[in-house]
Amino acid sequence: MAKAIEQLLVLQECDQEIRRLRKEMEDIPLRKQQIESRLDAHKEGQAQAEHVLLEAKAAIKRLEGEIEAARQQVKKYRDQQLQIKSNVEYKALEKEVAATQQGIRALEDQELAAMEAVEEATAATKGRQEALAKEQVRVDGEIQEFMVRSAGLGDELKRKEEERKVLAADVDPVWLSRYERLFAKQRDAAIALVEHGTCGSCHMKLSPSQVVEARKPDSLTLCDFCGRMLYLGS
Ligand SMILES: [Zn+2]
Repeated sequence: MAKAIEQLLVLQECDQEIRRLRKEMEDIPLRKQQIESRLDAHKEGQAQAEHVLLEAKAAIKRLEGEIEAARQQVKKYRDQQLQIKSNVEYKALEKEVAATQQGIRALEDQELAAMEAVEEATAATKGRQEALAKEQVRVDGEIQEFMVRSAGLGDELKRKEEERKVLAADVDPVWLSRYERLFAKQRDAAIALVEHGTCGSCHMKLSPSQVVEARKPDSLTLCDFCGRMLYLGS
């Protein structure tokens, strides 16, 4: 294997690590957001439970108003009954009273159901609040851990960049600049191992002459298909 390739393989490993570290640093805000977004469902659930509770409470208030109005109506009928002399009219009013009282009982049943709904919704809201608080603690802990880990990335990157400078200084400049252009272009690697006559990166079958060229220790051979630097394992 060419000495330059040997050096470039070490350099490439360093470059890949630098690339990985930069990506990790770039992703910090997104990752943080992903962790925090776990609270969204809990917050929504709590808001929903609170909404149900408010609705049930409003229903009780409305029913109480309706019951009170119906009671006033009964009182009015009773007062009217005191004023009239006709038996027929009196009986007609008695009927109205009975109907209104029946209405009151129906409203009272509804109020009872609404009270039960309030009780249920109160419990549900409390449960949701507790679940949210628990998740908040978990998320806070994870964020803290994540931020501590992320804080070390900058230093690690600086160290790697220093290491790279030292490594790159030793490589033949022609090979180095070729490598750098390739590495910048490729997502993974600039150098490919020839395996069974094919390029180890793009897996295309190489011509026999390319394989022969790649074997020479001082020739720079590029894959015809993907353009990566080729080398043969020793
Ligand atoms: Zn290739």
